[in-house]
Amino acid sequence: MTISPFPTGTILGYPRIGPRRELKRAVEAFWAGKTTAEQLEATAAGLRAATRDRLAALGLGKTDSSIPESFSYYDQMLDAAVTVGAVPSRFADLVDGDGALDLADVFTLARGEGDRAPLEMTKWFDSNYHYLVPEIGPDTAFHLASERLVREVEEARADGFTTRPVIVGPVTFLLLSKAAESAPEGFRPLSKLEELLPVYAELLQKLAAAGAEWVQLDEPALVSESVPAARGEVLAAAQTAYEALGGERPLGILVAAPYGSLDDALPVLEAAPIDAIALDLVKGAVPTAPATDKVLVGGVIDGHNIWRGDLAAAFDKLEALRLVSPNVAVGTSTSLFHTPHTVADEPGLPAQLKSWLAFADEKVAQVAVLARGLRDGRAAIQSELDAASAALEDRRHAPGVRDGAVRERAAKLDESAFHRSPYPVREAAQEAALHLPALTTTTIGSFPQTGEIRAARARFAKGEIDQAAYEGFLEQEIRDVVELQERIGLDVLVHGEPERNDMVQYFAENLDGFAVTQNGWVQSYGSRATRPSILWGDVSRPAPITVRWSTFTQSLTDKPVKGMLTGPVTILAWSFVRDDQPLGETANQVALALRDEISDLQAAGIGIIQVDEPALRELLPLKTRDQAAYLDWSVKSFRLATSGVKDATQIHTHLCYSEFGVVLDAIDGLDADVTSIESARSKMEVVPELERSHFGRGIGPGVYDIHSPRVPSVDEVTELLDIALASIPERQVWVNPDCGLKTRGYAETVASLENMLAATRAERAKL
Ligand code: GLN
Ligand code: ZN
Repeated sequence: MTISPFPTGTILGYPRIGPRRELKRAVEAFWAGKTTAEQLEATAAGLRAATRDRLAALGLGKTDSSIPESFSYYDQMLDAAVTVGAVPSRFADLVDGDGALDLADVFTLARGEGDRAPLEMTKWFDSNYHYLVPEIGPDTAFHLASERLVREVEEARADGFTTRPVIVGPVTFLLLSKAAESAPEGFRPLSKLEELLPVYAELLQKLAAAGAEWVQLDEPALVSESVPAARGEVLAAAQTAYEALGGERPLGILVAAPYGSLDDALPVLEAAPIDAIALDLVKGAVPTAPATDKVLVGGVIDGHNIWRGDLAAAFDKLEALRLVSPNVAVGTSTSLFHTPHTVADEPGLPAQLKSWLAFADEKVAQVAVLARGLRDGRAAIQSELDAASAALEDRRHAPGVRDGAVRERAAKLDESAFHRSPYPVREAAQEAALHLPALTTTTIGSFPQTGEIRAARARFAKGEIDQAAYEGFLEQEIRDVVELQERIGLDVLVHGEPERNDMVQYFAENLDGFAVTQNGWVQSYGSRATRPSILWGDVSRPAPITVRWSTFTQSLTDKPVKGMLTGPVTILAWSFVRDDQPLGETANQVALALRDEISDLQAAGIGIIQVDEPALRELLPLKTRDQAAYLDWSVKSFRLATSGVKDATQIHTHLCYSEFGVVLDAIDGLDADVTSIESARSKMEVVPELERSHFGRGIGPGVYDIHSPRVPSVDEVTELLDIALASIPERQVWVNPDCGLKTRGYAETVASLENMLAATRAERAKL
């Protein structure tokens, strides 16, 4: 079988949600029963057609397999599970006679139904995207259960395109799956590799029969050291998989390895009977060996950020890659689904900033330019390279990108800026200042973001109500929340965060150095998208941000009010961050702005301040060798933000998870006086770990799950508190829910908090 030539330029994937989140609207309308499956499918087909046309207009070839077929209604891991028939047994009754699921049932796997829990969701490599975790057991019977990808290839063919279907590769699929609940202890999904491969082989046959000339198998697990298998096993699995699939391949196989360098997996792939390998040359260096005749797709255009970047340097990398293989193509480092659609749809951004940016469409155009350079020589694209270099130069010197005062302040920092007094000293001072009862009760910050709050914010944004009216509304919200907390009997009160649309964007809007987009949506999971802010310049705080809300709240009550800020690491993790200096430097700038905010809060009489860092673990690098440096700068930035306070001021932090693993020492290193974590769903699994590590400061292991509207009974809360108190000294234990309450309604919030307080009172009586 002869394999068609690989195109000189391609992208690993494209945003699926539509330029104005059309897919979200269509999917949610279908869920709400307002449209039929046929209508949803028609909308999706329309989006795919528009994407093909767009990509061709931007310079990808219509018939040379350069356009990826990377659509998904919900998630690519779910798609892979559905394709190979990996449906957990609790959903078995949804499967039709021919072994398939219809579209509504696919969504049921994603979203659950009644007491059938959905597939678990977890973070996709080092991104903010969350995928659904397939469940595999010894008796999962793999078979080709969905031919949606084949139909999409046919659909494109009918439209005059030869696209390149994309699916998660078998090794990554199994490594990212978890053992089904019914599986025996120690069972590992990877053990099913040989059973899975024939299904992929059959799929490749059908894709080829439908007219595909290339297929892309995404294998990011090959670059990660955070997968549940020893490296040797991962390499052996890759070898087994690609020897099997490549053996009698009916079309060209591209194995894509986004999010990092392949390292020792590269020679394994080069030895396998496949045709092309996509390398992430943004995260990883250009390999210098071994020489190969396989197509190497140099992922030199960053799929994971929004910068136009250094196009000439990108082309240099491709030229260097040509020393390793005569067959070099240009690609993106990852799929472009981490970027918004187009800069052209951002009328509100300053023109100068826009000239430095490239969203998905602009990156496709960059790929097309570099592909032309590969074909016709550097001189043919010199003017485009020069234009990008000029924009980069302009960015380097633009006002705001470098702010002398910010830099001088950061340069002058010495060790003392990162340290507080020893904890026992602080503990005594805080006890004297705050007089908190044993098992202090509090919440994580937000109260329900009601429809009225969102409506008021929207009306303010549209100019329908003025600032005074909006702020009056927020104050009334705060009054209600304070009154409610007092009535329930909480000890440390919060203001409820009604002024925040989002815990990062709110700060971005109030700090210099950030810009906010209008349509820059990026899928975070399923139908959900976020609109990350752009951190483009040196960060500083022109004026206090939260002080007025916290002091207003404190004026309403004699109970202590907890100030509420988002930490530097989380602000970075959930924004698009400048790529022209180390992240640690940027984090310290954000930290200094927060440090000023904290000192203003303290001066205004706020004695407890929480700095949320739910994303601390999220940014953890995939390679073990990079983790220590990350943990060092991230912990330092938190400490820089929080160590400017008096001993008596109590610093809290909140983390949205409890499997601490490699970050346990880092969490200890944050040196917060009180750390609240999620732990209800795992029934306090974290407690023994905390005990072993002698975590000596305050800890608030969440006593109920806020992710569902279910109200926990007093007994349930008591049971969890008993577990915590059995291992952690009572003077360290705080009582709080797992996370903020913003996604909940008031009815369940009040009932749950009342039960939490009842359980606490009963526990206190036993002390
Ligand atoms: N303070 C935030 C809230 O309560 C924390 C949210 C989070 O951890 N993601 O909503
Ligand atoms: Zn949380």
